[in-house]
Amino acid sequence: MPTELLQIEPAPPRGDWTDPTVQFRKGSFCYGATPKSASYLGLPNPRKWQPFDADWQLPSGWKDTLLAGMKERLNKYRSFRLFMDICVRCGACFDKCHFYLGSSDAKNMPALRAELLRSVYRRYFTLSGRVFGALAGGRELTEDVVKEWFYYFYQCTECRRCSVFCPYGIDTAEITMIARELLDLIGCGINWVIEPAANCFRTGNHLGVPPHAFKDSLEFAATEVKELTGIGVKIPINRKGAEVLFVMPSADYFGEPHYYTLLGYLMLFHEIGLDYTVSAFASEGGNFGLFSSHELMKRLNAKIYEEARRLRVKWILGGECGHMWRVLHQYMDTMNGPADFLEPPVSPVTGTRFENARSTCAVHICEFTADLLYHNKLRLDATRNDRWTVTFHDSCNPSRAMGLLDEPRYILKRACRNFHEMPEDTIREKTFCCGSGAGLGTDENLEVRLRGGFPRANAVRYVKEKHGVNLLACICAIDKATLPTLLEYWVPGVEVAGVHELLGNALIMTGEKQRTTDLRGEPLPERGEP
Ligand code: SF4
Ligand code: SF4
Repeated sequence: MPTELLQIEPAPPRGDWTDPTVQFRKGSFCYGATPKSASYLGLPNPRKWQPFDADWQLPSGWKDTLLAGMKERLNKYRSFRLFMDICVRCGACFDKCHFYLGSSDAKNMPALRAELLRSVYRRYFTLSGRVFGALAGGRELTEDVVKEWFYYFYQCTECRRCSVFCPYGIDTAEITMIARELLDLIGCGINWVIEPAANCFRTGNHLGVPPHAFKDSLEFAATEVKELTGIGVKIPINRKGAEVLFVMPSADYFGEPHYYTLLGYLMLFHEIGLDYTVSAFASEGGNFGLFSSHELMKRLNAKIYEEARRLRVKWILGGECGHMWRVLHQYMDTMNGPADFLEPPVSPVTGTRFENARSTCAVHICEFTADLLYHNKLRLDATRNDRWTVTFHDSCNPSRAMGLLDEPRYILKRACRNFHEMPEDTIREKTFCCGSGAGLGTDENLEVRLRGGFPRANAVRYVKEKHGVNLLACICAIDKATLPTLLEYWVPGVEVAGVHELLGNALIMTGEKQRTTDLRGEPLPERGEP
């Protein structure tokens, strides 16, 4: 019951924070990676294990492995060493993490979360820590500390909200990424990350959809578009020489409500006559490697440029996915580039050069569509969305990692007539996470997700009560998968949709028949009557 989860105790923790003991209570942790998936990726120490086991079957020499891994990363990533050294404990980040706000667990304060790793850094990598130990804020690396890392670094969605408020720019998400990478060195990853990553290696996508099912799913979507609009859309797969490679998260062609977003893309591409192809190999834009290690992220991402090269396209257009854009925008150029075999993207319809995408050669679908609307290239009937009163959830990665703040709003305000923002401190760069990102969107840790998502849901509740909002629009596949559960729990009566679903509803396609339903098959409102 929601009232039970709200029974949190906002008081300082009892006892000494340096005590690493954690309780793996049902609902508060994710299951360990299965040996099958870990082996598939060639990860160390594959075995059957669970976090609640007394014996985690750590490999012999695990402590040396972790310390060597830490040393390597301190030398490799200047940011990591800096973040270990410069926190002044000013407190600006303490109440900015949604997991802390939803749980009141002090170790979910960003600075204290980082301290779990920092205390070990101090003990083994600073002179004062080596000499004075605990007196200098150092902690011994023990098996209990490993368990504590696992517990708290898998209660961080790498959302970076805390970094917005840190005067020193400390990015706790980066610290979490390093901590998870270290845990992977001794075989302590979670299955909800490792299995999708293994699927991606096997079939090209997280869901493990094989090429023929990928094709079937897209063909089914084309049939749906035909039924809705009377227009037959073509979906080219693996077509060499197309101008654009379109890459989307696999949930778009296999999940709901994502699927309606896919219908929106297909209608848009047909209407503007886009010369594009999708790929049955790069059939996933998302990248669960981001939630595991830099190496895995790089390996998974490689397929996008490889397919762009093989299919001889000019540039890449990407769908509505959150962490896909974190990887594409922040890492792809360095990890998988240079993309010198591609061309700086130019819209074939408006002639706009996407200078911001010059190096990655990858444009976000919202940038692309907003540009079309800005140049009056699309006809919309916003009354078709009149059954919705809409608000927009800035997904953490597109908003904070790539500054995609205005384009989705630009589209929504033209495709819908009823739009209201959530409170200022909960949107744009300060947006609250869904509570399920970074591989935490699984069922076994539902309590953590509901607690972590509480600040987001609370803001939705505010606009529901004030303006009658009944739809939360977003541009992230994880959001679309997990927000429905969150809202059903905290704010029943609010649904979730992609921005391009609403665009598809409103889009007037050339030669379309009189539409009677929206993309969900619901009757369209009488024209002009909300
Ligand atoms: S805001 Fe930055 S410097 Fe201040 S306590 Fe948090 S991490 Fe440390
Ligand atoms: S990155 Fe997000 S989840 Fe992690 S500590 Fe910061 S605010 Fe919390």
